[in-house]
Amino acid sequence: MKKILVIGEILVEVMADTPGTGFLQPQPLTGPFPSGAPAIFADQAAKLGQPVAIVSAVGDDDFGRMNLTRLQQDGVDVSGVVVDAERPTGTAFVRYDAAGARQFIFNLRHSACGRVHVTEAVDRLLNSAGHLHVMGSSLSDPASVQLNLRAADAIRARGGTVSFDPNVRAEMLRAPGMTQAMHDVLARTDLFLPSGEELTLVAGGSTPEDAIDGLIARGVGAVVHKNGAAGATYIGGSSRHQRPAFAVQEVDPTGAGDCFSATFTALWLRGVPAPEALELAVASGAMAVLRRGPMEGTATLDELQAFLRTARPSA
Ligand code: ATP
Ligand code: MG
Repeated sequence: MKKILVIGEILVEVMADTPGTGFLQPQPLTGPFPSGAPAIFADQAAKLGQPVAIVSAVGDDDFGRMNLTRLQQDGVDVSGVVVDAERPTGTAFVRYDAAGARQFIFNLRHSACGRVHVTEAVDRLLNSAGHLHVMGSSLSDPASVQLNLRAADAIRARGGTVSFDPNVRAEMLRAPGMTQAMHDVLARTDLFLPSGEELTLVAGGSTPEDAIDGLIARGVGAVVHKNGAAGATYIGGSSRHQRPAFAVQEVDPTGAGDCFSATFTALWLRGVPAPEALELAVASGAMAVLRRGPMEGTATLDELQAFLRTARPSA
């Protein structure tokens, strides 16, 4: 099986217990939970038995130890994770409002994961991985962009492949260099996994159909468009498959996209036919939203198959 490499943030998330706006008053909180989009992706891929490594950094603190323990327990290769003695592990505080919109306070740039370390272990991973998964949320500084592009070129030169989940909102695209970074990654992408409006924001085009036509013309082999509770669509070559989401009680939507992308990418790498990979990925997204905490809803293949035996599509 091809080994997946993912480069990017590891952090803990602390969640407000009550719906509302912001953190201007003391309030009940639950956490820390292991988190970071690349870490959730890696954890889900590992639970499916896929070899996967993450390149990142954590602090020499309990938040870092909690993340490393979870990732290792679930089978992620953490040899490329540096323990930075000078900076704390990244954190995110999140609160949902009554409509389900999220408000975050991040401490990432000045945390351990805000600094890129290219150690010998990282070089070994770049020289041995068969697939790179790029998370757009990890492209916020030039060093991370450079390392992702270097890894993509090295892996592709050996006949490997690249998947890309832009995982970015419109405001983030306005950051200096972000649009260019997205285009540079897209030019090296075999499998593109945007969600909602990310498709047109990152790929251009006035409609999703335009954007997809443009991507295929530029050499992207396959596109999987995630659409939250509306499910997901696969487009590759001349085939197109749509899958409604499963009807579940959404407890916490954070991490659904990362779990979905990990499951689809791992199965795609194994040559599982697109409709079957899509069904399991949609199940993976649904299982992710059932649990409170961004990484708590990752699932094994047995758990996904058990879910599919009883699940029903949303109306
Ligand atoms: P993230 O917030 O992790 O970045 P995303 O925006 O990348 O998420 P979504 O489209 O929200 O990704 O979710 C990915 C997939 O998970 C969806 O295509 C769907 O199959 C499944 N999913 C998400 N939310 C729900 C839900 N409420 N009910 C059932 N399935 C869901
Ligand atoms: Mg996403």
